[in-house]
Order: sequence, then structure tokens, then C-alpha cells
Amino acid sequence: MDRPVPTDIAPQAAEALLRSILQTVPDAMIIIDEQGRIEQLSTTAERLFGYSLAEVAGENIGKFMPPPYRERHDAYMRRYLDTGERRIIGIGRVVTGQRKDGTTFPMHLTIGELRTADRHYFTGFIRDLTDQQLTEARLKELQSEVTHMSRFTALGEMASTLAHEINQPLTAISNYLRGCLRLLERIEDPASPMLRDAVGKAADQALRAGDIIRRLREFVARGDSERRIESLPKLIEDAGTLALIGARDSNIAVTFRIDPAIDLVMVDRIQIQQVLVNLIRNAVDALADFNGPRAIDIEARAGTDGMTRVSVADTGGGLAPEIARHLFQPFVTTKQGGMGLGLSICRTIVEAHGGRIWVEARPSGGTIFNFTLRAAGGHEEDARDE
Ligand code: ADP
Repeated sequence: MDRPVPTDIAPQAAEALLRSILQTVPDAMIIIDEQGRIEQLSTTAERLFGYSLAEVAGENIGKFMPPPYRERHDAYMRRYLDTGERRIIGIGRVVTGQRKDGTTFPMHLTIGELRTADRHYFTGFIRDLTDQQLTEARLKELQSEVTHMSRFTALGEMASTLAHEINQPLTAISNYLRGCLRLLERIEDPASPMLRDAVGKAADQALRAGDIIRRLREFVARGDSERRIESLPKLIEDAGTLALIGARDSNIAVTFRIDPAIDLVMVDRIQIQQVLVNLIRNAVDALADFNGPRAIDIEARAGTDGMTRVSVADTGGGLAPEIARHLFQPFVTTKQGGMGLGLSICRTIVEAHGGRIWVEARPSGGTIFNFTLRAAGGHEEDARDE
């Protein structure tokens, strides 16, 4: 609702009022005239740019921008005054500012316009985005950590499957060779000692190969896990942001429901984030071509058994029946270009942390993936041993 503008403020009082507003307003504010000359700066703007009002009053606002914007600004203003075409006024935009010391920083700029009978002013409201961009940089870093780890784990998972598959024929070879040795011991033939020697050596080599594979499996199972006490809500929040990058435009309603009773867990942060990222990405994939409600609910609840249950539920089409029984096994996929390793990696990680992972159909349609983690506090010793 419009309120009547007070008209009974004396010019000096108005000046004092403006000065006091500019001194206290937490935002950086700059007022310029239609020539682009600096008229006023809020105290926050003085601090942000490193100039005092006295230093820059009457100077061109281009001073607060790096080239080439500095040189182009007058032309921008002229074009607006000539054509009335708004490119930034009333819209707001992320631009680059330059401080007195020459350093630049990202800022969000909104411009308001004020006309009096004979003058024309522009007011710029500025929000320093340095912190926000730092958050984004941190997120990128996190993303590359998780991606790196995913590749490593995918490799480990493949090695483990391969080791398992190769170990069986190797054991069979070794058993057959032992059988041959026993038979050869009973045969009296001039060539049999040589044959026995060769077969014995072949059996040794098969054992050696089995040993190498066993060591590889042990190494993979142990991994490079580094467990620390971590805040689970924070971990979920970070992983959620990471997994939903690029999904923001796909019209998916994402909700986080974190039980206030949950807090610390003893985990390898990157590995658990990898589990969450995998599950959330799968949920996003399940909603990609789905016609219907598109929602993902990420929930964490404290259990009575000292375990925290985390679930990722989607409203997608549900599991393909042909893979439902083999889910969590490596190389099970319905996706073109899918590796089918995500869920098996999730299972390896969750089980190595002493938890459990399982899937259920969502009664109203869609899928719910659940996993448990031991809450830290009193149980850390057990968690570390597992
Ligand atoms: P990938 O994503 O490479 O296929 P995963 O192991 O992560 O490997 O998933 C295996 C398969 O499980 C997927 O191809 C898909 O068919 C099924 N799946 C996983 N999550 C969901 C889900 N939320 N909804 C429906 N199907 C899913």
C-alpha cells in the first residue's frame, strides 16, 4: 500500500536523514547523478571499495569498475537516458567491482532511479558475492573429491569382482594339477619325475596367482578409508547440493527432512557423500523422463538401536522388474551408457561402515533407498573395528 510521502521535512533535516541512513544501512549504496558522478556513498560502500566519500565525490562511477566496463559505463548510461531501455535498472545483475587497491570482486548490483523536478539520480545497491563464490568454489572442490573417489572406488569394485571371478578357475586349476601330481606319483616312467616337477611348478604358479588376487581383494576391501567424527546433517546437505547441481532446472521438488535428534557419525566423509550422491543422482535419473509428480525426499531419522537411517525416496517409475533381484550387484544397469556400479559401490561402503542398505517400493509409486549408519557417541569403538 502506498503511504503518503512526508512533505514537511525541511531540506536540512532531509539531508541529515539521508546521511544517517547512509551511515547505518548495512548494504553498500551509491548514489550517482545522470552524468554518472558520485554523489553519496554509504559507510558500507566506503568500506567495501576502500574509498571515502570525500575522495571520490563528483568523480565518475567508472572508478568502481575494472576496464573495459569503466570506459563503457558512460555510453551505457547515455543509451538508457536516450532510449529508456532497461538492461539493469530494476532487474539486478552480477557484475565485477574494483576496489581502491585495484583488486576486483563479484557483486550483485540492483539499481533504482529517482527523478526530482530538475535532477535525475540513480541509486545502486550492492551485495558483495565474494563469500558466495567461495562457497561455490568449495562445492566444486568437494565435487572433484567425490568424483575422484568414485572413479577409484569403481576401479576397486571392478577389481574385486574380477578377483572373485578369476579366483574360482584358479582354484580349479590348482586342484586339477594336484590330482595330476598324485596320479604321476603312481606311474613308473622315466619321464614321470620331469612331468611331476613341471606339474608341481604349474600348481605353485596357480597358487601364486591366487595369492596376488587375494591380496588385491584385501587391499580393495580395506580401501583408503579415513574415518572421522562428522556431522551427518552437514554431510547430507553438502551431498544434496552436489548431487542436485544441474537438476535445478528439471522441475523436481526436493525436500530434506532431518531429525533434530541426529548429529554425529563416525564415517569416511567422502565415501558416505559418494553413497548419497549416487542415490540422489539415481533418483534424478528416475525422474528424468517421468510424467507425473517429480519429487525427491531426503530423510534422516534416529533409530532406537543407535543406528541412524538415511533414505532417498523418489516419485519415479520404480525399479525395472528384471533387475530388482540383482540390485546392488556390480554391472547391473538399465541405463544406456550406465556402468551399473553405483549401487554395488554404495553397498560396499555402507557395509564397511557397519550399516545396511536396502530398497523398498514407495507405496504411492517410486522407490525408496535406505541405509543405516551407526551414530557416534558410545559406539565409536565398535564402528572403528568393523
Ligand atoms: P547405473 O546408475 O550406472 O545404472 P546403479 O548401480 O547406480 O548403476 O543402478 C543400477 C540400476 O538400478 C539402474 O540402472 C536403474 O535401473 C536401477 N535404479 C537405481 N536407482 C533407481 C531409482 N531410484 N528408481 C528406479 N530405478 C533405479
